[in-house]
Amino acid sequence: MDISKIAVIGAGTMGNGIAHVCAMNGYEVTLIDVKEDFLTRAVKTITKNCDRLVKKERMTVEDKDAMLARITTTTTLTDASTADFVVEAVLEDLDLKKTIFQTLDSCCKEGVILASNTSSISIATIAAQTKRPGSVVGMHFMNPVPMMKLVEIVKGLETTDDTLKTVVDLATKLKKTPVTVNDYPGFVANRILMPMINEAVYCLMEGVAEAEAIDTVMKLGCAHPMGPLFLGDLIGLDVCLAIMEVLHNDLGDSKYRPCPLLRNKVAAGQLGRKSGEGFYKYD
Ligand code: NAD
Repeated sequence: MDISKIAVIGAGTMGNGIAHVCAMNGYEVTLIDVKEDFLTRAVKTITKNCDRLVKKERMTVEDKDAMLARITTTTTLTDASTADFVVEAVLEDLDLKKTIFQTLDSCCKEGVILASNTSSISIATIAAQTKRPGSVVGMHFMNPVPMMKLVEIVKGLETTDDTLKTVVDLATKLKKTPVTVNDYPGFVANRILMPMINEAVYCLMEGVAEAEAIDTVMKLGCAHPMGPLFLGDLIGLDVCLAIMEVLHNDLGDSKYRPCPLLRNKVAAGQLGRKSGEGFYKYD
């Protein structure tokens, strides 16, 4: 199937970035969330990011206007029915994703690929909610989506080679570098990254060092572009906790237990950048 229209489900941190790169590369986008406010905020973020590109003369005002005109928003999930390709980017919550995929499967055209941007949840489990498991695949963009080159393409147990090829081609058309991996908890990126962030939180909780010191050690000592606690704030501490829970439950190894301080931060609503406070404070 030729892809010209893409539905993006969830307009949060990742959803607005995915909508941005799809529209930027000429695709019509239907951006879907549960509240108008969330959609307005997402379009504002996309506009602000484009304004920055215009200021740097990397985009013309005409291109910006044409790109924004390719994005339509709606709070009705079944409006995804007109899309040729769907990417889901709602919260990292298995029950929510199950419900969304059941609805998408019943409303989307036959042959349409349903991709999930999940960071860690089993693609096989998500695919089992549908009557098209061969057309369900992981399409794991990195944050911030407009800037990060990698898309981790996750092959579920039943994902067909045709589906994989289509998703790899789409990622390439979005000017990303696709890397195909198999369907195990956390895939590759988060299987390695999240335990490091979690360990940094343990270092903070146990008083090994202050947050700034932990981040500086990893930046200057290990050549990381940003420290693990700063990165956790950028990703969202609720997302980090959800991924650690998946690693812990699905791999069954105590080395993946989420740090109690990470749990406390999430319980207190200190989710990082998106809530204004995490390990650091933000304006
Ligand atoms: P987020 O909390 O910023 O956004 C999630 C959005 O989903 C919210 O706007 C919420 O209103 C919306 N939503 C909830 N229920 C919905 C429904 N029924 N229909 C439509 N929209 C609904 O979360 P995020 O950080 O964007 O993460 C989204 C997904 O991307 C998760 O699976 C996460 O694991 C994955 N991911 C996150 C990152 C990251 O750095 N944050 C990186 C890669 C992948």
